[in-house]
Amino acid sequence: MPSGRLPVVNPWRFETNQATVQIKVDTYYTKVWKQAISTWNSKKVFTFKVISGPAQITILPAQSNEAALVKDNYVGVAYVDHDSTKRIISVQLHLVNALLKKNSYTTSQRVNVAEHELGHAMGLAHNPSKQSVMYKTTRYVSVQPVDVKNVRELYSIPASQYFINSPATTSSTANKDLITDKAGDRLFKSPFETRTVEPAQILFY
Ligand SMILES: [Zn+2]
Repeated sequence: MPSGRLPVVNPWRFETNQATVQIKVDTYYTKVWKQAISTWNSKKVFTFKVISGPAQITILPAQSNEAALVKDNYVGVAYVDHDSTKRIISVQLHLVNALLKKNSYTTSQRVNVAEHELGHAMGLAHNPSKQSVMYKTTRYVSVQPVDVKNVRELYSIPASQYFINSPATTSSTANKDLITDKAGDRLFKSPFETRTVEPAQILFY
């Protein structure tokens, strides 16, 4: 990318522009996530395929870690595991119900946050522009043309050119190859995951 511009895509992605998704949340949040998935799928740049069994992307409620996420004001979280070839291995997404509720997010605003987390799942980074679903404190903005363009560009590079080497390492050896570099104050990585967390956006009118 040109120097001086902040990256809007992370240096990792799925093999192709599709991934399976397993949704393991209650009826209300299943509706929220399915709406976000429909929004992205309608843009025709990436296909999320909802299945009933184990999938590449798993959507779960925040559970044991919810109190910590609420304390730190995170309304959504994306955990993205990727290996040294830049391939995404697996993704876990959460919406933090307690905080969304406390801050009176409407259903459509929760869908916007879900769209943002799905953006991370595809490989998008935060966008400094407020006119992007990938703005770090997204609440009011749905998927924008710039977001569609960024996904299209990320997946327009042939896998043979994009990934560092091929074929992908097996899942049993992938963990030791996980990237451990760190970038951005809202992006935390451990040896086993890239953790992207979303602060709640609270406006003072
Ligand atoms: Zn984010």
